[in-house]
Amino acid sequence: VAKERGCSRYQCYAADMHARTIEHLMLEGDLRRAIESDQLFLEYQPQFDLTHGTIIGMEVLVRWLHPKHGLVSPCKFIPIAEESGQIVAIGSWILEQACEQYTRWTADGLDIGTIAVNVSAYQFQHPDFVDMVEAVLKRTGLAAEYLELEVTESVVMQDMHTVQDKLNRLHALGIKLAIDDFGTGYSSLSYLTQIPLHRLKIDQSFTAGLLKDRESLAITQAIIHMGHSLGLDVLAEGVKTVDQETQLRAMACNAGQGYLYAKPLSAEDITTFVRRRTQEQIT
Ligand code: C2E
Ligand code: MG
Ligand code: MG
Ligand code: MG
Repeated sequence: VAKERGCSRYQCYAADMHARTIEHLMLEGDLRRAIESDQLFLEYQPQFDLTHGTIIGMEVLVRWLHPKHGLVSPCKFIPIAEESGQIVAIGSWILEQACEQYTRWTADGLDIGTIAVNVSAYQFQHPDFVDMVEAVLKRTGLAAEYLELEVTESVVMQDMHTVQDKLNRLHALGIKLAIDDFGTGYSSLSYLTQIPLHRLKIDQSFTAGLLKDRESLAITQAIIHMGHSLGLDVLAEGVKTVDQETQLRAMACNAGQGYLYAKPLSAEDITTFVRRRTQEQIT
């Protein structure tokens, strides 16, 4: 049983292994041509303040439209990109596209808060990662305070000294840091006090169980309390129902993201979405 970040659990059957390996190799080859052939594109999912209902940011989610297989889930191709090292080039491309899109929205007079970009563990490990981020900010002209990087607990489980150094440098630039899929990793919690964090993102599996089982409720409550005690903002992922939202608000969770508010949307649809909401708030 494997759990990829942000992706649901799946079984790995032995009979399936051979087919999976061939598919894997083929996708790896195809992925090499994906950027240059314009097969990758980005979608954006809004994040909301649960108290005021305002948009506080957008999470960037990469998509791959494969010429033969159609849409391939990032749950499938991000791990392949990590294993083959292609995530370094793909990750820089995603960051640059996202920052460029942000500056376009700003130029159009749209206030979308921060732009949250997922960073995989392998990408973060690259020695030039911080320099790359700094260079992209410079090239696109995006102020660092509008950029948030989402890393998972697996990033923090790497060599703590190196991780601290990198995160401190990103923090010094003014970039915000969030822990994604929080509560699903296996790390000790002490790292939370040793790195410059801004936000915890409660994994969507807990949000899904919130009104179904006591354990999910207890863990969600504990994460919110702990986050607040440490001075962190807490966002719940995968909010799908009004009842979940009500429960999260009652527990003083700061922010939410999920199908209840909006699916991941194209940049164009985000523009329409934000304009309409701003209009609704004025009238
Ligand atoms: P994640 O970062 O935890 O992203 C949240 C995932 O949950 C996204 O799936 C999103 O579409 C989905 N989601 C949002 N709201 C709901 C909801 O209400 N219910 C349910 N069931 N799902 C919801 P997606 O886009 O398929 O991405 C899956 C994972 O792939 C992400 O999890 C992230 O780990 C990875 N990923 C996606 N884009 C990127 C990227 O640009 N770079 C890297 N390194 N990883 C990425
Ligand atoms: Mg998740
Ligand atoms: Mg994420
Ligand atoms: Mg997540």
